[in-house]
Amino acid sequence: MVQIDTNKCTGCGVCVRICPDGFEVKEKKAVLKNSGAECIDKAVASCPVGAIISDSNLWWQSKPVMPARGGRRKRQGRGGGRRR
Ligand code: SF4
Repeated sequence: MVQIDTNKCTGCGVCVRICPDGFEVKEKKAVLKNSGAECIDKAVASCPVGAIISDSNLWWQSKPVMPARGGRRKRQGRGGGRRR
C-alpha cells in the first residue's frame, strides 16, 4: 500500500524525478500513478519530508514515542507556582 500525505507534501517533485512511473505532480501535490512501479521504494526513501507512506516505512511510523531519558518531568496537577 502506498499513500501520499498531502498535508506534508510540498510538491517538490523529487519523487517524480526518482520514480516517474509511480508519481506525478498535479496542482503542487504528488499523485500516485502506479503503486506497482518498481521504483516506488526509492521514491519513498528520497522524499525530503516523509510524505510518502508505504508498507516499507510504516514500521517506524507506528512505533510509540518514548520520552527522552534524563529530562525533567513536569509536575502533575497544581503546585510548583507561587502560593498566597
Ligand atoms: S518528494 Fe515528497 S514532498 Fe516532494 S512531491 Fe514527492 S511526495 Fe511531495
